[in-house]
Amino acid sequence: MTRKKTTNIVVHHTVTPQDHDKLGTIARIRSAHKKNGLAYDGNPAYHFIIGHNWTVATRDIKTIGYHAGNWEINKVSVAVALVGNFNNDHLTQYQEDELGRILRHWMKEFNIARKNILLHKEIKATACPGANITQGLIDMVVSSKENDMITALKARIVEFTAQVKRLHIEVKKLTGEVVAGKGREMDKDTQIIVLANQVEATREEVKRKEEVIVAKEKELLELRGSLDDAEQTAEENDDRIREEAADEATEELKQNILGNFWDWLTGKR
Ligand SMILES: [Zn+2]
Repeated sequence: MTRKKTTNIVVHHTVTPQDHDKLGTIARIRSAHKKNGLAYDGNPAYHFIIGHNWTVATRDIKTIGYHAGNWEINKVSVAVALVGNFNNDHLTQYQEDELGRILRHWMKEFNIARKNILLHKEIKATACPGANITQGLIDMVVSSKENDMITALKARIVEFTAQVKRLHIEVKKLTGEVVAGKGREMDKDTQIIVLANQVEATREEVKRKEEVIVAKEKELLELRGSLDDAEQTAEENDDRIREEAADEATEELKQNILGNFWDWLTGKR
């Protein structure tokens, strides 16, 4: 069943042992979802499952999953499940990073607003995804190190650009002051000496300011380079999730076909 639109993300937990491996966990969730009718096409209801150190796409991202216990939400949402029971467990560093990457990826891919990332318990009377998974935690994982770095770099570039602008204005002002010195009343010879001295002093000041401008502009260039690198890394992470999802979905499909064949052989179908 294909989704017509995607406006929400729902976060779940699996209530299976946090440290279990990929295949064992998928088998367990698939059989539980088959038993209670959530796996209408044989696949687990969640689109992605994040284990303690592994991630797997368990449902074609374009399809509807019966995960939220609410049809209005199911038909417009993608679901990610964290392996563990987060009434007691806490996310591993891997789960935290991976959840952040997947959420950011979906927010971008489907143009989903932060406020539309929901915890399962916000839709239905359930403990899922556990007391330790809060909207505050979601806030934290959604803002990545790369994103924070990009924001910080952009702020520094704005600050540096303003500094360079200010320095240019100061240089202009200094040049103007020399001219203003001309209006003072003193005899001609003194005026010439004073002016010459002022010109010399100003020239040196201008030179110093211009050196600062050159240094700032060099730093600015380096900052822009770092910003490009950070944006590149963020982009690559996004591509990686997309590719992994495609690979895992293919693998999952193969396993599903084998599973169905096995069920048919053993007379369960
Ligand atoms: Zn749930």
